[in-house]
Amino acid sequence: MIYVDSHVHLDDAVYEKDREEVLYRAQENDVRIIAAVCCIAKIGDADITLSLMEKEGIYGIFGVHPHDARYYNDELRDYVMEIMQHPKAIAIGEIGLDYHYNYSTKEEQLFTFEHQIEIAQKINKPIVVHSREARQDTLELLSRLYDGESNKVNGIMHCYSGDVDMAMQCIRLGFLISFSGVITFENAVRIRDVVKKVPMEYILSETDSPYLAPVPHRGKRNEPAYVVKVTNKISEIKNLSIKEVTESIVLNIKKVIGK
Ligand SMILES: [Zn+2]
Ligand SMILES: [Zn+2]
Repeated sequence: MIYVDSHVHLDDAVYEKDREEVLYRAQENDVRIIAAVCCIAKIGDADITLSLMEKEGIYGIFGVHPHDARYYNDELRDYVMEIMQHPKAIAIGEIGLDYHYNYSTKEEQLFTFEHQIEIAQKINKPIVVHSREARQDTLELLSRLYDGESNKVNGIMHCYSGDVDMAMQCIRLGFLISFSGVITFENAVRIRDVVKKVPMEYILSETDSPYLAPVPHRGKRNEPAYVVKVTNKISEIKNLSIKEVTESIVLNIKKVIGK
């Protein structure tokens, strides 16, 4: 069985001392496909992720996070485009809108999101979307820029926290829905209902490490090995075997990697 962590911040400073051990534990737990998300706010930010991508099974996702939208400029755009030429750079992300924190203004976030979508379309790569408390603007932008006509995968809605209706709209536009450890939280009844209703062929698993550790590690530092807990929860909610769930998630992530 192969487990997939479709979203992890391996370059985070909390892994500075034991990054190799973290990756070793992932291997030991059969987490063999890892997408390392690198949030770029300045030139050079991709260095750690690029070196990790030399390892088998580790892919890279690069982009300017909505929190950092205020730093977005031509120089950063060129830097992202240059890194995206790497054969294991699979998507532009995480990009999107975060109206919970508003570290950058709405205008900066909308501009940076749309601009990076245009780049992704130009180089024919999927995107990884971070959308928090920004349902309407996210859907408006995605449905304006993606037609959903073709059967291809246009991207991933990461750490999905929206409702069933939004998930279905995103699927129609060619997006996969990725669930994190939040689905294991006791009070996460609403999001478990979304897991139940989204067809397995559109589901991905992620940790979003070092954040959002699943039960029983909740509140502690998260790591890719714990994606097993997320995957087990998906199989429990959907009443499918772990084998069926892991096989489908591998197929789904391959659609992103293969693009
Ligand atoms: Zn995010
Ligand atoms: Zn993230």
